[in-house]
Amino acid sequence: MSKSTLPEESVRPRRLSDFIGQDELRANLDVFIRAATERSRPLDHTLFYGNPGLGKTTLARIMASELGVNMVTTSGPVMERSGDLAAILTNLDRGDILFIDEIHRMPATVEEVLYPAMEDFQIDLIIGSGPGARTVKLDLEPFTLVGATTRLGLLTSPLRDRFGCIFRIEFYSPEELGCIVERAAAIIGVHVEPDGALAIGRRARGTPRIANRLLRRVRDYALVHGDGTVTREIAESSLDRLEVDQHGLDAMDRKILSLMVENFSGGPVGLKTIAAACAEEVRTIEDIYEPYLIQCGFLKRTPRGRVATAKAYRHLKVRMDDRLELL
Ligand code: ADP
Repeated sequence: MSKSTLPEESVRPRRLSDFIGQDELRANLDVFIRAATERSRPLDHTLFYGNPGLGKTTLARIMASELGVNMVTTSGPVMERSGDLAAILTNLDRGDILFIDEIHRMPATVEEVLYPAMEDFQIDLIIGSGPGARTVKLDLEPFTLVGATTRLGLLTSPLRDRFGCIFRIEFYSPEELGCIVERAAAIIGVHVEPDGALAIGRRARGTPRIANRLLRRVRDYALVHGDGTVTREIAESSLDRLEVDQHGLDAMDRKILSLMVENFSGGPVGLKTIAAACAEEVRTIEDIYEPYLIQCGFLKRTPRGRVATAKAYRHLKVRMDDRLELL
């Protein structure tokens, strides 16, 4: 495989020192990892929450490599029966990290297996069936559960309460994303000027995964329309062509906002209605599009539904009527 076609995996930071941004979280995690190493004890169960592509999986992997342990990966929706989780838990070695992505989508029966496993490193196994069935406790090796979720609010409180550390991962600043782009460019062998990296960082929706994806698209454009170097001009003109605007909004973001403005007088309008009008799933709108539109101040959540803000009208170059001016 040539250097420039390596997949996303190749640019994933492996050590905490390679992880850019989230300074407070990184400092805290560093302390927890050092303390656990010093005491030779598994790390407390840890939960990361934040939008897709912000680095939850990356942080879990970094924890495993900093601690020198294995990481076993699964996700909430793939575990259908309690036995699926029990099989994974009983195979863990001392100190291993069990990473459960989308932990909020784990069925309740599976989740119940986790409670004693997290608290006492034990699971209850039911042997036999009917009136003769009996429960036996099985000891597990001490392990660390690392959960990732886009929606903290959907976690049940018994599960949430069993995590020793809960970290929120924030959107990244354009400058941080610029650094992430420069680092990724060096790994995949693309020459990028600092201004070019920053131009990509500005339009990456605060999200490293998107920054890395845009870098690959801009690199192609730089090869065809320039000498392969990603300059600011090349970055901006290729992102214009990809319909990613100066705020990082893509065609779907603009569709959501213009639908709200043109068909629903700017709102309030319910999420289901927006999703139906955009022919998109409610969860996709809620997890992927809405948080960034809210973060940028284009959309507001109100008790009666979503409302497009004055900034959204200005961005779409649509005049607000007097009623909306008051919102
Ligand atoms: P999530 O699990 O939150 O969806 P990932 O951890 O898979 O996100 O991150 C997506 C990609 O973004 C990774 O492949 C990694 O290369 C990159 N990435 C995420 N966070 C950072 C960071 N802080 N510094 C550098 N690259 C990052």
